[in-house]
Amino acid sequence: MTEFGGLRAIVTGGASGIGLATANLLAERGCAVASLDLDTGVKEPLLGIGCDVTDDASVRAGVDAAAGALGGLDIVVNNAGIGAQGTVEDNDDEEWARVFDVNVYGMVRVTRAALPYLRRSRHAAIVNTCSIVATAGVPQRALYSATKGAVLSLTLAMAADHLAEGIRVTCVNPGTADTPWIGRLLARADDPAAERAALEARQPTGRLVSADEVAAAIAYLASPLASATTGTALAVDGGMQGLRLRRP
Ligand code: NAD
Repeated sequence: MTEFGGLRAIVTGGASGIGLATANLLAERGCAVASLDLDTGVKEPLLGIGCDVTDDASVRAGVDAAAGALGGLDIVVNNAGIGAQGTVEDNDDEEWARVFDVNVYGMVRVTRAALPYLRRSRHAAIVNTCSIVATAGVPQRALYSATKGAVLSLTLAMAADHLAEGIRVTCVNPGTADTPWIGRLLARADDPAAERAALEARQPTGRLVSADEVAAAIAYLASPLASATTGTALAVDGGMQGLRLRRP
């Protein structure tokens, strides 16, 4: 039996970047995986289910469809998210509501819909994609950081609530990861090469994190091998949170 043999997972935002890398890695390790995303264009063996995490009916239908097709659910990777730039002055109420709706309420909706299935699993795990910005202040990310701070707190609260039901809840805190999202961000910069160099220099490793490196951390947390790990955040950030290096 492989590590994830017989287990069934949903990955939100599973059609791109970190979510796609995670879905593929779990599938490689023997898990049956459905991606719940606005974009349904994933390749087999992944099952692509159209789902908008801002719409409760869409989420319930998507989670039920995934559980029906896979024969149940053991693992939820709450990963769908969107970005926002600027200081606290730069986004209006509508934008604050829009980003919280995807990044925080989306996780709430998906988890709510999945819990009845997870309660029937013998290896239930929820892994949330949080961010370095939940634990470190970076400039021009006030709204985005606020959503990820909420994800960190929500992870801890859910871990406490569902411990007795045998459901582990954890999160990963990636640094800047080389995904299509960052590609779009760089494309909008005045000088994309300089912007990329600045993002790389911000991480002690001097490079961006890869989607595969984040996926490996999510897979560890989701694995039955991590059965003693709950209510914790795993940094995958090239040392950005923990290290204070001397300048060369
Ligand atoms: P990405 O843009 O490559 O992928 C995000 C996916 O989420 C897309 O497939 C998109 O269609 C989907 N999505 C967006 N809104 C949705 C909605 N309403 N319903 C369903 N699906 C939706 O982004 P990524 O870089 O892989 O980011 C994934 C997660 O990682 C996000 O939660 C992000 O906040 C987090 N993160 C990213 C980085 C980074 O540097 N890339 C760093 C830290 C954390």
